[in-house]
Amino acid sequence: MFVTTRGLVIRSVQYKDADRVLTVLSDKLGRVTVKARGVSRKNSRLASSAQLFCCSDMVLYENQGRYSLNEAQVVEQFEGLRSDISRMALASYFAEVLGCEEEEEEAGGEELLRLTLNCLYALSGGKYPESLIKAAFELRYMAQSGYEPDLYSCSGCGEVLESGRAIPERGEVYCKNCAAPFGIDLSANALSAARHILTCELKKLLSVSVSPDEARALSDFSGRYLRSCLERGFKTLDFYNSLGDIR
Ligand SMILES: [Zn+2]
Repeated sequence: MFVTTRGLVIRSVQYKDADRVLTVLSDKLGRVTVKARGVSRKNSRLASSAQLFCCSDMVLYENQGRYSLNEAQVVEQFEGLRSDISRMALASYFAEVLGCEEEEEEAGGEELLRLTLNCLYALSGGKYPESLIKAAFELRYMAQSGYEPDLYSCSGCGEVLESGRAIPERGEVYCKNCAAPFGIDLSANALSAARHILTCELKKLLSVSVSPDEARALSDFSGRYLRSCLERGFKTLDFYNSLGDIR
């Protein structure tokens, strides 16, 4: 049976001499494992589509629940990622997050793919601060996974908040009176940007204006929140952070 789907390669591993095993984030099938035969051979017409972070319109052949790549038309290769180690490292972190759930679920694939493609376009284009792209990906990924943090009212007294101090490990924000002595201060502008990111149409994901400090605060909050909810760390994120000094 043939399935036509748009898909982004989030993992590509050499298998045997000329084959690769791909993890593809697709709109129709969610995250799916796809065998790509012969793609490491010279002149393979599917070679580009089997590359990490290549998005293609794919025709997959399904046989007893296993998929192989039959045809592919490249949509976007995100060249701007490939020449920049920091962008590539951040994209690799997104891929590790997307691949971290044990179960491969079909539901929600289209939204996740759109979120990821939006973030990769922004990262590849180099026009947005990386910390803002990272925060937007993490916040929206958590919301789409059913873990939307409550950023509207104080978790202590219920007061509606303009600005506040966030406790990322709980996904909560507190007013001045209830605030813990630790946490991340989010300005009114940063908090409103986070709310926009959580609820906007995906094509407007990055239509926010924040200062570099506000973007870093959001990224710190969203990253710690994500790791706390998923109860794990990410070695790709450690690598990305290790580039901080040379970036
Ligand atoms: Zn309060």
